[in-house]
Amino acid sequence: MHELSIAYSLVDLASQSAIEAGATRVNSVHVRLGALAGVVRGALEFSYEIACAGTLLEGSTLVVKELPVRVYCAACDMEVELPSVQRFCCPRCDTPSGDLRQGRELDIEAIEIDVPGDVKGEEHGNTGATDSQGDSEQK
Ligand SMILES: [Zn+2]
Repeated sequence: MHELSIAYSLVDLASQSAIEAGATRVNSVHVRLGALAGVVRGALEFSYEIACAGTLLEGSTLVVKELPVRVYCAACDMEVELPSVQRFCCPRCDTPSGDLRQGRELDIEAIEIDVPGDVKGEEHGNTGATDSQGDSEQK
């Protein structure tokens, strides 16, 4: 299951950033997953939990944002979203296009962390959504 090795590298990356930020704990990791990334979302979420064990990320949530495939259509002179990855044709004019603009992404968009001394961790959270939880355990 290659999702497991992907999960390990995501956890690795996230914990490095967390350590650099002085975090004691990671609450969640947000990733962007393209429809052509070749990763099964459910398998990734399952693998993530395994990969988190014994790291700063233990108990954290993986938040997956799925990205549809987008190609550039020369006939329409615009980027269009493909309704299906089975058929690389413009949904507007039916012209075949292989000019991929989005869909292979697999990257970390944001991580939410707890930082000691910073009561709510807000300044370090990329999404600002950290202050509803997580500040109770340490103090
Ligand atoms: Zn078109």
